[in-house]
Amino acid sequence: MKTQVLTETGKLEPTEELLAELAAKSEALESASPEEIIAWATERFGSKLTMGTAFGPEGCTILYMLSQIAPETPVFNLDTGYQFQETLDLRDRIAEQLGIEVELLKPELSVEEYEAQTGGLPLYKTNPTQCCFDRKITVLKRGAEGKHAWISAIRRDQSPDRARAPIIGWDKKFGLVKVNPLANVDKAWVWRMITEHDIPYNPLHDQGYTSIGCWPCTRAVAAGEDERAGRWSGTEKTECGLHTLDDDTNK
Ligand code: SF4
Repeated sequence: MKTQVLTETGKLEPTEELLAELAAKSEALESASPEEIIAWATERFGSKLTMGTAFGPEGCTILYMLSQIAPETPVFNLDTGYQFQETLDLRDRIAEQLGIEVELLKPELSVEEYEAQTGGLPLYKTNPTQCCFDRKITVLKRGAEGKHAWISAIRRDQSPDRARAPIIGWDKKFGLVKVNPLANVDKAWVWRMITEHDIPYNPLHDQGYTSIGCWPCTRAVAAGEDERAGRWSGTEKTECGLHTLDDDTNK
């Protein structure tokens, strides 16, 4: 284990030494396979590593690789209360087929209590950024307590913002090391993995839903549309804020 400094709450302190280690390792792993990156993360952070998944095809491939490399790694899903039933059912199929039990992290308020605060008018209609902040960002911050690193399933070719993601970096927003094992792969690679290894995936993908989040903010896309065009369609919002690279959690 490398020398590391912890905060009073047991989180990693982003010391110069740690940031230098992450930058060097990120560069060294640029040409590594996703499996090699995951293996490094599980070895480096052990029980302090966690993974977050929305059960997209990328996340499902990582869950498959984790089942082969370190199935004891804790995995969570941000269960906003607005997920498709197909997504929740996929959690059960992952448990059966891959042996990984994904923990559902829920906001403090149920959907009913949350919507009652705004007179029954859901914030996803009037202020989706606040809704994502309340039902995703704050929940992940709680889930990150006691952890040092998290694995995400983003690919660089998904958006200009994600294109800047390192393989390994410091995630200021959550005070965690962020590991992006799929940064360098493309969508075709992901679906090849799913087919070759019979990895469970969300059946909504067969109905034109290329990127799946909460049902109020997701639609199927037409042929030729960007794969994330169905997320927050008709608004300027393109990300929930989990993967923005700055410290602006309300972005
Ligand atoms: Fe709310 Fe939509 Fe964000 Fe889900 S994706 S948390 S419903 S605004």
